[in-house]
Amino acid sequence: MKYGIIGYSGRMGQEIKRLFSESGHELVYKKDEDGVEVIETPELLIDFSLREVFPETIKIVKEQEVPLIIGTTGLTVSDFEMLKDLAEDLPVIQSFNFSIGINILSELVKKVNQYVDEDWDIEISETHHRFKKDKPSGTAIMLGDLIDRDLEMHSKRLGSEFGEHEVDFASTGEVLTLKHRAYSREAFSRGVLMSAEKILDLDAGLYSFKDILNK
Ligand code: NAD
Repeated sequence: MKYGIIGYSGRMGQEIKRLFSESGHELVYKKDEDGVEVIETPELLIDFSLREVFPETIKIVKEQEVPLIIGTTGLTVSDFEMLKDLAEDLPVIQSFNFSIGINILSELVKKVNQYVDEDWDIEISETHHRFKKDKPSGTAIMLGDLIDRDLEMHSKRLGSEFGEHEVDFASTGEVLTLKHRAYSREAFSRGVLMSAEKILDLDAGLYSFKDILNK
């Protein structure tokens, strides 16, 4: 397939390019803070850039009229309204975490949450590399949304950690910890590739990565 990346020279942009090239897909549209290079019209666009770029991404996707996969974090409630609006005409896949493991972890968190009562403490911790701008991570927010109460979130920004998330459930006598750790960005690019290989067959609509895994 012929695809484009918004945030092309970033850490994720380069990792996506690496894996997609290995799978025989052709990068024909590159957008970065320095400008855009269009070799051909892409069949789909992938955005892993910055929250600030989001309005520009929406404009580009509308102009190009192609499906969008977006992994950029820090999106606001009104950004999601814009995504829903876009998804009336085009397929859009959005996830704050494209790793398979985190999506399994989400299911486990929902399950454990059903078993524990108010007497249990629940806290979420996340660690990412020092360059990550948003805090707490989009994934920590997503995990927190699965739990029907306000809870503490802890964030560390350390060295080159790709992404670690931990959910602790504790009563006075015991602790149950669910933990996921990505040890390379391939944890995310594999999910982006899976999504890209399915998106051209989807009807217009807003999908999560979990929807793609369940297909
Ligand atoms: P990065 O800082 O390495 O890359 C961001 C890129 O965006 C840079 O190359 C920058 O030049 C580019 N950019 C800046 N202005 C731009 C503009 N106007 N138009 C197009 N591009 C522009 O960051 P990263 O580590 O690659 O992460 C990118 C995003 O993806 C972040 O929001 C991060 O949190 C998120 N992320 C999501 C997942 C997931 O699974 N959903 C996984 C990892 C990272």
